[in-house]
Amino acid sequence: MLLRVAAIALLVLLAGLPAASGATSGVVRDEPVGFSAQDPPFRPELPRRRAQPLAGKVVVVDPGHQLGNHNYPAQINRPVPAGGFSKPCNTTGTATNGGYPEATFAWQVSRLVTRRLRDLGATVRLTRHSNRQDRWGPCVDARGRAGNGMPADLKLSIHADGSYAAAARGFHVIAPADRAPWTADIFGPSRRLATDVKSGLLGRGFVAANYVAGGDGLDVRSDLGTLNLSDVPTVMVELGNMRSAAEARVMTSPRGRARYARGLVAGVRGFLR
Ligand SMILES: [Zn+2]
Repeated sequence: MLLRVAAIALLVLLAGLPAASGATSGVVRDEPVGFSAQDPPFRPELPRRRAQPLAGKVVVVDPGHQLGNHNYPAQINRPVPAGGFSKPCNTTGTATNGGYPEATFAWQVSRLVTRRLRDLGATVRLTRHSNRQDRWGPCVDARGRAGNGMPADLKLSIHADGSYAAAARGFHVIAPADRAPWTADIFGPSRRLATDVKSGLLGRGFVAANYVAGGDGLDVRSDLGTLNLSDVPTVMVELGNMRSAAEARVMTSPRGRARYARGLVAGVRGFLR
């Protein structure tokens, strides 16, 4: 047995020698000027792996109201638990003066955010999987609980506002208030998430809302089931005022939506760092 192994080893060595020396002489002959025998041996580049800094992270993206909510008044007005009180299942959301719905805006931005987070390695769960006139919901209690069982690292609820106040514009990020027993476990990290999302949006050239939340772009609310029922850090972001003509132009353009998505992803990455 030992003899056989030794014989095979010798054969392998003999077989390798001429090939190796042949390859070496070939390389020297064919190399462009400047190559010398002292240069390190050529190593083919390994296929590049995409950087996945968010591998192992779980993010819930909640793309706001379903487009068809207004077609289902009985369903979306049904009261559901919202954290110690009841609220309607959902609302219809707002729109630009030109008729571009908040539901569609939130959906399109959410898709961009989802794609980018997945590219970065995160697992992303959505609270709705379509943007259709013949669908409604989910209700705020389902949105609020989404991600609790995993548990997700964070939940981002994407909306836009509809204020008719003169010159009202800008984004604001809403964190849950400290309401034991509902949010006592998450209000601290949620405020940090709110700050990170605000920084992400400011970094992409968006401005803090001038008409709510004291002008600093950060709000705290206790009346939102989507936030109250969450056991994971969460914020709701109102990306801008859809009734502002200037902001509507940004929201209705693919470049504008991509910029919103980059701001949100920057915020998520800041929080998960
Ligand atoms: Zn909304």
